[in-house]
Amino acid sequence: MSEAKSDIVVMKFGGTSVAGPEEIKRAARRIVAAREGGSRVVAVLSARGKTTDELVEQALEISKRPDSREMDMLLSTGERISCALCAMAIHDMGHQAISLTGSQAGIVTDSSHTRAKIIDVRADRISEKLDEDRIVLVAGFQGVSTDSLDVTTLGRGGSDTTAVALAAALDASVCEIYTDVSGVFSADPRIVSDARKLSMASYEEMLEMSASGAKVLQLRSVEYARNHGVRIHCRSSFEDGPGTLVVSEEEIGKENVEQPFVTAVTHSEGESRVTLTGILDEPGVAGKIFTALADAGVNVDVIIQNEPVGDDALADLSFTVDRSDLTTATDTIAGLGGISQGVRTDERIGKVSIVGAGMRSHPGVAAKVFEVLGEREINIEMISTSPIKISCVISADRVPDAVKALHEAFELEADAIRPEAPADPPTVTS
Ligand code: ADP
Ligand code: ASP
Ligand code: MG
Repeated sequence: MSEAKSDIVVMKFGGTSVAGPEEIKRAARRIVAAREGGSRVVAVLSARGKTTDELVEQALEISKRPDSREMDMLLSTGERISCALCAMAIHDMGHQAISLTGSQAGIVTDSSHTRAKIIDVRADRISEKLDEDRIVLVAGFQGVSTDSLDVTTLGRGGSDTTAVALAAALDASVCEIYTDVSGVFSADPRIVSDARKLSMASYEEMLEMSASGAKVLQLRSVEYARNHGVRIHCRSSFEDGPGTLVVSEEEIGKENVEQPFVTAVTHSEGESRVTLTGILDEPGVAGKIFTALADAGVNVDVIIQNEPVGDDALADLSFTVDRSDLTTATDTIAGLGGISQGVRTDERIGKVSIVGAGMRSHPGVAAKVFEVLGEREINIEMISTSPIKISCVISADRVPDAVKALHEAFELEADAIRPEAPADPPTVTS
């Protein structure tokens, strides 16, 4: 990215930060303060409070499998409401503001409804309005497909991605994500009360954290930020504080002396498991299954296949998917016509992960994770690893216990004495 950024800041406010009239006025005051401080401001707003959940419920009350184009027409309304109301609040504070839908703001996507990808940002209209000294409010989480000219949405939590994409297109100095916690923590502060706020996280760590359930930043927003060199500053909309900077590893290496080998414990309770029993253990079968799932737009997370022990060469294959994709996944498998003898589903499974860039050079971390869970009698059902993450699928009911136990075992608490990256891994058996 270029050294000289523009004087534009992008500020994104999440659902809780615009929930009621007082919150909208508070967000408006922050936006106006940034403008009065000399920045040109583009603010991206989410739908108010639980609006999106309520809209999803309304759709499901009408139809078991709502049409995805119409779903996007419905869901995109929430963010428009927030923006129009916030523009009114800003007008009352003596500033000029204009609210824009994602489409009006030039957010161009592919046409995969409810999970669209941003393919272009045509920010001319935003730039024009900024030049007219207006504060620009953009409805998050939505865009328009140039193929169909239809409204699309970007997947749950997608306003983060709108904000980062606009920051990239406008060469903004920073993308500020205002939310209901004061930054990115070493675990969800709603589960671990003494979780530590990270002053910085690398894109790589944040990618793994978001991918494994830390919904404070949508996964795609972090990917987009990494690919375009956008600095994310995650902070509270309710109090002033330093928040968390999500930046490149090089920047962290230069500025941060404290480099723990485990950074955070993350969790998810939003996944389901599909198990195919009695599939043929021969080349091409897995390819067929996972190509069909990919074609149906289903993101598969953890996969496990066991070696057949009998003579019949039949194996069992399990994989996890986002719960909202479970029906599509099972429909897709059914469409493959008897690829397995049976299909089992667990609608609600839990997953706990530890993430840390320093893990690359520290053997024995996985062993410690398994030991800690074992001591708590938490059964590990599936395991997946990356160089900087270890994830275990466990019973959903045990997720809070597992998160707390791992957080304590890796000494991630706020007041833990944290040495610099240790030369040797701490007490682990491998
Ligand atoms: P917004 O509506 O502002 O987009 P979200 O609900 O999407 O907010 O994300 C913020 C929530 O993310 C927090 O309230 C917190 O419970 C949850 N969260 C999960 N893991 C973490 C973490 N490691 N650090 C901070 N917040 C986390
Ligand atoms: N309102 C959408 C959601 O609840 C998008 C967002 O908040 O980022 O998922
Ligand atoms: Mg969010």
